[in-house]
Amino acid sequence: MASDACVAPYRILLFMANDVYLQVAVDVPLRETFTYCCERPLPTGTRVAVPFGPRRVCGIVTGPSAPGGLDPARIKPVLEIFDDLPPLPVSFLEMVAFAAAYYHHPYGQTLFTALPTALRQPGNVRLPDRRHWWLTPAGRETPPPAAHRARRAVWQALAEEACTLAALRPLAPQASAILKAWLAEGRVASGEPAALSFREGPVLALNGEQQTVLQALAGALAQGFSAWLLHGITGSGKTEVYLQLMARVLAAGQQVLVLIPEINLTPQLIERFAARFPDTPLVTLHSGLSDGERLAGWVDGWQGRAGIVIGTRLAVFTPLPRLGLIVVDEEHDTSFKQQEGLRYHARDLAVWRAHQAAVPVVLGSATPSLESLANVEAGRYRRLRLTQRAHGAARLPEVQLIDMRRKKRTEGLAEESVEALRTAQRAGQMSLVFINRRGYAPVLACTDCGWTSGCPHCSSKLVIHLPERRLRCHHCGWDAPVPGSCPDCGNVDIRPLGEGTQRLEAALTAMLPEARLLRIDRDTTRRKDDWDQLYQRIQAEEVDVLVGTQMLAKGHDFGSLGLVVVLNADSGLYSADFRATERLFALLNQVAGRAGRADTPGRVLIQTQWPDHPLYQALCRHDFDGYARTLAEERQAARFPPYCSQALLRADAPDLKDAMAFLDRLREALEPLAEGIEIVGPAPALMTRLAGRERAQLSFESCSRQRLQHFLSEAVPQVEAAARRASRSLRWSLDVDPQET
Ligand code: ADP
Ligand code: ZN
Ligand code: ZN
Repeated sequence: MASDACVAPYRILLFMANDVYLQVAVDVPLRETFTYCCERPLPTGTRVAVPFGPRRVCGIVTGPSAPGGLDPARIKPVLEIFDDLPPLPVSFLEMVAFAAAYYHHPYGQTLFTALPTALRQPGNVRLPDRRHWWLTPAGRETPPPAAHRARRAVWQALAEEACTLAALRPLAPQASAILKAWLAEGRVASGEPAALSFREGPVLALNGEQQTVLQALAGALAQGFSAWLLHGITGSGKTEVYLQLMARVLAAGQQVLVLIPEINLTPQLIERFAARFPDTPLVTLHSGLSDGERLAGWVDGWQGRAGIVIGTRLAVFTPLPRLGLIVVDEEHDTSFKQQEGLRYHARDLAVWRAHQAAVPVVLGSATPSLESLANVEAGRYRRLRLTQRAHGAARLPEVQLIDMRRKKRTEGLAEESVEALRTAQRAGQMSLVFINRRGYAPVLACTDCGWTSGCPHCSSKLVIHLPERRLRCHHCGWDAPVPGSCPDCGNVDIRPLGEGTQRLEAALTAMLPEARLLRIDRDTTRRKDDWDQLYQRIQAEEVDVLVGTQMLAKGHDFGSLGLVVVLNADSGLYSADFRATERLFALLNQVAGRAGRADTPGRVLIQTQWPDHPLYQALCRHDFDGYARTLAEERQAARFPPYCSQALLRADAPDLKDAMAFLDRLREALEPLAEGIEIVGPAPALMTRLAGRERAQLSFESCSRQRLQHFLSEAVPQVEAAARRASRSLRWSLDVDPQET
């Protein structure tokens, strides 16, 4: 408005006399915070609106400031102070500062990533009214006449128990006005809901192993920081252990943070927690919520109202004043790592946070990440084990391999697999056909001798690029033409792994005409209640064969799954990504865990061209430990993470050669700083082209995390300077502890 515009300059002049200076963080890609002035000191963590260039933006006060070399006349004033919520807690800002420093991300952007969207806007927020209303003795004695329907309904509800306004509105749309009038007359009172006493639903009697684990963990409560790796096979009762441990924390009046992978956020899981602790306010936080819902949950955690906060990676930032325990379920899951902007790993931040709050953190998995296993080895985490299935009769499934070499197949299906599906259907068992469709880049393989395209210069696999007919290494940059035949045996039938499952559903329908097929993937579960409907059909036993991809692997308990057929697993066996085998094992283990959960023993058939591969051999023996050791040795020999610390500098531009040239120049400039750091590349990224841009990367590797951190602090300003000089179309990002190469 015009009047505002003419008031502003006067305010600036006024402030010059006796204002105070503040540091304010705003959501911009710059490393520094900015100085503003205000008529009074504001506590750190206060949300304000400030002018930034031509815009009015939200800012967070990070501390007092001195004008330093700035001309006081040019320091702009804080425009508005938002006091709808108390200042953000110091412990929250500390975590933000740590994340910004560790991931070398601008502080302001880190802070705004950690905040729910609603708090990133320059405005007051509307929080749901959680106040409860009840009748005073005077109100109780004066019931409204029955003819006044609305008032009577409100009165009756309040006579029974204290209610929120939201609960009263359906009874009477004008409830708010009625309460206001009654409040003035002293007939009602309002306030925060009384803290509920803790109550626990029915618990399961733990088996011996579970008891041992619970005892160890319970002993760590209230003893400061400790980090635990709970390594328990699928169905061994890890969740039951979390629940019984949480009961102790909640009973002591503390809060619990539970982090779960995106895909596990199912109503069934949440219901299990809610049913166990019926009186404990539980909040779920994930990216599928509206801004308002997420804000409400975040604030409930922060204000101590929520006893349990369950959420995906973003929930790790929720302030929890009475935090007593953190649980990270499926700690190996890749969705804990954010792949854009602030590329944080929620599991790693959770461990940092547990340390900050001096509480235990429990990382649970059937297939722990090599990172966590290395931390156990180094004595940073303690490992606890559950080796048996908890449910009385349930046994581990029998895993068998189908050798696909020179075998007749229809659309990628072996005759044995089809036969097994028929048998299961006749026995009234539900089956799952699982198609591995992870976006692995295609590696070339010989269908006869099993040769695969390895890089002659490093331990990566070469990836085939069809348009140019080239093989490329995405680690060191080596590049060669596609050979016409197998270099080992001369066979001309060499092809990219993973071909041939596209028309699978049609083929299955033709081969199993009587079976009721249900396909589950992103397309069939796009809408919110799609999944619920599919789930109901499964529960009602209206399905014989489920066909699906990774979405089906986790989280859901299908009860009567008797048979699992796995297709196209081989494409994860030989991959350009050195983590592919670790992930493939975890995935197949999880898929196999779907079989024989309840009382039916399960059977798993894996079609493969490499039946002797150590991964499959270990899977058949249910030998995670043995395979993890093999992988660890490979990583150690190749000096890949977790046996080195890594950061990737990525660059993209419309043209690959500009991205490569940018990284080439940086490599040269950074070489003198890189003591104890190996700089590898630049190389085109695995998925070179994405959205019309081409990407390349430079890898920094060191055996010492501190040294790498130190190097990055010196390197990032140089990268920024170089980017300012480079073409405007060039973009870059840094990924510390990358999970995707
Ligand atoms: P995990 O989290 O390790 O996959 P869950 O806690 O989900 O395992 O347990 C797997 C199944 O075993 C569930 O159906 C659960 O109810 C059951 N279960 C867990 N612990 C026990 C126990 N002590 N006694 C009987 N059943 C149990
Ligand atoms: Zn060959
Ligand atoms: Zn290479």
